[in-house]
Amino acid sequence: MDRKEFTRVVREVLQSLPEEFAAHMAHAEVVIDDDPSAEQIRSVGLDPGRDTLFGLYEGVPLPERGDAAGTLPDKISIFYRPIVDACASPAEIREEIRITVLHEIAHFFGIDDGDLDDWGY
Ligand SMILES: [Zn+2]
Repeated sequence: MDRKEFTRVVREVLQSLPEEFAAHMAHAEVVIDDDPSAEQIRSVGLDPGRDTLFGLYEGVPLPERGDAAGTLPDKISIFYRPIVDACASPAEIREEIRITVLHEIAHFFGIDDGDLDDWGY
């Protein structure tokens, strides 16, 4: 799957969000990068020499924002290469993109990894 198609799938997932969520997404920028930086991998406690990331949420989760006036928009990164490399077929890539995008959006809404694990995300 090339990056153009990958980007299209990410947009599809974003457009499929319930309107209630979609309204808040104006505060989050969703970007697609080839690979996470070493610093981004370290930021979640992983080892850049050994680990990679499919996606990353950076920012202040909505429930913790309080008066958010003047804060930068949050950033959700989706990483093209790690996802494509980990999947055997376009269908698998599509499913992994969906899970990754929803996982990172959940962080934006203040849901932590423990709960996401329980729910299979
Ligand atoms: Zn997570």
